[in-house]
Amino acid sequence: MLDKLAITGTDVWYYFVCKRRAWLSIRKVFPDEEDENMEIGRFIHEYRYGRNKKEIGIDFIKLDSIKREDGSWVVMEVKKSTKYFYSSYYQLLYYLYILEEKGIRAKGELLFPEERRREIVELTEDNKIKLEETIRGIEKLAYEPIPLYSKKIAACKNCAYDEYCWSEV
Ligand code: SF4
Repeated sequence: MLDKLAITGTDVWYYFVCKRRAWLSIRKVFPDEEDENMEIGRFIHEYRYGRNKKEIGIDFIKLDSIKREDGSWVVMEVKKSTKYFYSSYYQLLYYLYILEEKGIRAKGELLFPEERRREIVELTEDNKIKLEETIRGIEKLAYEPIPLYSKKIAACKNCAYDEYCWSEV
């Protein structure tokens, strides 16, 4: 059985990329730390934040950074590319949702420095409905007893679970 479900922003991101990966992440089945993709992930994290700069943790979510602009809070999420834009969009929207639940109304900025692109993300009545459906979907997924079968997808190439998923195929 799962304890109280603590859905992270990364879980939301995975949910749109690969539901199998989302299940593994929620169930805390961690990939091999020595996996090349984990090392690349750590490198990007250090490159992005430096060794000393920390993300901002609020309960179980971690914000890249938050700033005050024109009297409003703005949450920023930095991504390497727009390849998984939809996933990144809902990850940031989820942060805004959690903050709103805590009485903090904020806007979001998705930043893609390598593509010199910036997208504003705002929680609206419409996207909130879709987000709440997503959260219910993640909760349902989390209670599945085993990870979903998956077929190989483009994301497998850079996924630290590739050995776990495909070594016996
Ligand atoms: S290797 Fe592929 S199927 Fe397995 S968790 Fe990663 S993305 Fe999903």
